[in-house]
Amino acid sequence: MLEAINNELKQFSTSAEEASNKDIFYALSRLLTKRIKQDWALTQNAYDHNSEKQVYYFSMEFLLGKLMKVHLINLQILEPVKKAMQKLGFSLEEVLQYEHDAGLGNGGLGRLAACFLDSMASLEIPGHGIGIRYKYGLFEQRLINQNQVELPDYWLKDDYIWEERRNEQSVEVKFGGTIHMTERNGRLHFVHENAETVKAVPFDVPITGYNNQTVNTLRLWSAESSLDAASYDQNQLPQYRDYLEYKQSIEEISAFLYPDDSHEEGKKLRLKQQYFLVSAGLQSIIHSFKKKYNADFSLFPKKIAIQINDTHPSLVIPELMRLLMDGEGLGWDKAWEITTNTVAYTNHTTLSEALETWPADMFSTLLPRIFMIVEEINERFCQHLWFHHEDYRDRIPELAVISYGQIKMAHLAVIGSHSVNGVAKIHTDILKKKEMKHFYQLYPSKFNNKTNGITHRRWLLQINPELSRLISSAIGDKWVERPKDLIKLIRYAEDTAFQDKAMEVKTYNKQVLARHIKEHTGLIVDDQSIFDVHIKRLHGYKRQLLNIFHIVYLYNTLKENPNLDIIPRTFIFGAKAAPSYYFAKQVIHFILSAADIINHDPAIQDKLKVVFLENYNVSLAEKIIPAADVSEQISTASKEASGTGNMKMMMNGALTIGTLDGANIEIKDMVGDKNIFTFGLTADDVLHYYHHGGYNAQDIYQTDERLQLILNQLHDGFFGNDEKDFKDIYYHLLSHNDEFFVLKDFNSYEETQEFVDQTYRNQQKWMTMSITNIAHSGKFSSDRTIQEYASEIWKVSKSPVFSR
Ligand SMILES: *Cc1c(COP(=O)(O)O)cnc(C)c1O
Repeated sequence: MLEAINNELKQFSTSAEEASNKDIFYALSRLLTKRIKQDWALTQNAYDHNSEKQVYYFSMEFLLGKLMKVHLINLQILEPVKKAMQKLGFSLEEVLQYEHDAGLGNGGLGRLAACFLDSMASLEIPGHGIGIRYKYGLFEQRLINQNQVELPDYWLKDDYIWEERRNEQSVEVKFGGTIHMTERNGRLHFVHENAETVKAVPFDVPITGYNNQTVNTLRLWSAESSLDAASYDQNQLPQYRDYLEYKQSIEEISAFLYPDDSHEEGKKLRLKQQYFLVSAGLQSIIHSFKKKYNADFSLFPKKIAIQINDTHPSLVIPELMRLLMDGEGLGWDKAWEITTNTVAYTNHTTLSEALETWPADMFSTLLPRIFMIVEEINERFCQHLWFHHEDYRDRIPELAVISYGQIKMAHLAVIGSHSVNGVAKIHTDILKKKEMKHFYQLYPSKFNNKTNGITHRRWLLQINPELSRLISSAIGDKWVERPKDLIKLIRYAEDTAFQDKAMEVKTYNKQVLARHIKEHTGLIVDDQSIFDVHIKRLHGYKRQLLNIFHIVYLYNTLKENPNLDIIPRTFIFGAKAAPSYYFAKQVIHFILSAADIINHDPAIQDKLKVVFLENYNVSLAEKIIPAADVSEQISTASKEASGTGNMKMMMNGALTIGTLDGANIEIKDMVGDKNIFTFGLTADDVLHYYHHGGYNAQDIYQTDERLQLILNQLHDGFFGNDEKDFKDIYYHLLSHNDEFFVLKDFNSYEETQEFVDQTYRNQQKWMTMSITNIAHSGKFSSDRTIQEYASEIWKVSKSPVFSR
């Protein structure tokens, strides 16, 4: 290994003595790329020649984070490389920092896509990602004067080491123009005239499997001008300026990721991005399908499975129809059968503000042919209801794809696919019984659940090597390939020697995080305190506000009674707010303002510390999660479809304080009531209040003195001069009746937090609970999730490219 690295350095005429960390980083990346490329080509060749079904996962987001360590682990060379680095006088950890996070996603949905790619490759499933190569990923967050400031994330400025441009596989995507119909040989032909043509260029990223040589592909599409700059005379200024403007308008399509998590804006550029992704992705799939199977499209659903990650890529349905009919000459019925048998849809949310709709006039102008097809799909669906479901006749406007000038993407996705899945049991139940009740009654067999998962290779093996080693020392290392084997740890839950070691690991990880906190915020936190972690996007329903209300309550109580006996706690937040989400930004401002007061009040005697770490992303999550004692999963019940942060922390031995929402419920089912702290309204309670009323936030303000004090502090400027901001939170809760039930759940949350404190005092008991959580976390590996998708939706099996 040492020699290989030295050789790489030599080729760029440096030596280890002269090399910088960055030189070493590039040398290592070249070395890895060479190795990966061999297996990548062999895998690709096998997929081109065998007749295995291929899975394509379409997603507007892939939140990959860094990949170098993943590759080192997958290729089983992490230890030799680490040693070689030491010999050369470098620290691998420092070298790895030179990789920029690929932040092509907002949060859970994008990270899920990344975990799925990892699991597909590791399980030897021929599965690939299709996404957009945004020039700018999710914005970088700075905290300045206790407010969020956004900076552009120009992640491509140093070249992306893993990507490979495949110019020869570029395709064209057309926007706008008009459709001209002609008849030839008794058949209608659709000619697209005056369209704007965009060149879609694929950049492929290799996705390595764990210890198996399989290398799948993440194909990211980039928009480029199809006109050649050389044909413009730079001295002919008006024309050249037009050209530059035109070029920029094309490149804009893949310029940036929309930063609104779980919120839909209905912007034209976003629709352009979606169609760009779908059209380019499908054209390249059809191209490789035809090379293998000529034009026998009846084979298509047997050889191709397409999963769409939320409704964002649901234009695959009309676009596949277009390509099959206009491009390949198939009739409607045949094309429809192929399309619906190929496409499967994953629903991610029931939040109404996240449901995608497009104004029909904007849609038809931008995508005239696709609009015709959507209209036809809608027409046939409405006719079907009219003639075959008389009891649904009244509901046609409610269930149609197009109604009142709006196109409803979720309806299109359900009608045009063979599978509709939710992402946790409760979420799928809510879809079936409430949100998509009528569609469920029309198509009961389409609906199914696939509880989310996370790759235990990144989220345990990679980020917590100390705990991984301890686990392997007890139960062997088979759990790495079979995460359900973690259950064998249950025998050690009450083993005091093992508990002590697990405790040592946790303390070590807390010390490491404490150093990071000191370096990045200047705050000194006590590694003996409880590390209470709330990391996720900032959103009303995720209720960071409930957490900070409880912290302020503790603060007020300690001021009143400085001798109050509580275990010291360090509250750790990480969260980005969408730039246009005013309330979320106010909550950040509130947390930072309260933190400033609490952290610097000597009367608190360091019993409370509030830390907000800047720029929450995959790399920061990797630093925080191994050190978490308590995992905050406190969404308003019914709102968090699954959550995956909950799984990551459980797997690292944190105990969950959470509502009965999303996958928290399945975590509770696995570990039992005694090993999780649940509280608050249930989903049924919440849905009942929404439908029937009966909750009055003012009543709670009047009767709960603790909350009255905090709300008055907000109103009266206790947290700073910038009173106006905090008054808005006050009015949100009291005048707008607290739509996320923060005040309603406060009492139950506070009691449960007190129970957390009491429980932590018994360190043995705490460690028993912690180990029990780790032992049951195998179910939440995305390997299990992907096995379920593979056997129940995609009908694909493992297809090893290499014999082991
Ligand atoms: C896992 C993850 C998420 C999702 O967290 P939730 O708690 O499920 O919302 C979001 N962002 C990043 C960077 C993650 O790693």
